[in-house]
Amino acid sequence: MRVCAECGGELASSFRFCPWCAAPQRRKLVEFFRAHPRDEGKALRVSRYLTEDPHVRFSVWNAEGVAEGAVSLDEEEAERLAGFLAAPRLPRPRPFERLRALIPR
Ligand SMILES: [Zn+2]
Repeated sequence: MRVCAECGGELASSFRFCPWCAAPQRRKLVEFFRAHPRDEGKALRVSRYLTEDPHVRFSVWNAEGVAEGAVSLDEEEAERLAGFLAAPRLPRPRPFERLRALIPR
């Protein structure tokens, strides 16, 4: 068990965020993302730095465990990327077009 520096609540040492006040418990969060099959053998690593200079770093890793390239985004640009990814993928057809697709003529 560990104690949150923000609120004093007890939490498991594996926790990334305090369950009581949501304060981040690590200075760096890392997540790996599986590549599309066309990029088999590679993975995307996203590191989020919760430091005085907060930023997000993206790096492409190969099967040998070597980073092939990397780029960092500041918080504002990372927010913009999150919005871009959260946007709907395709515009939904209008109701009349959906109806016509259901009833062939
Ligand atoms: Zn806390």
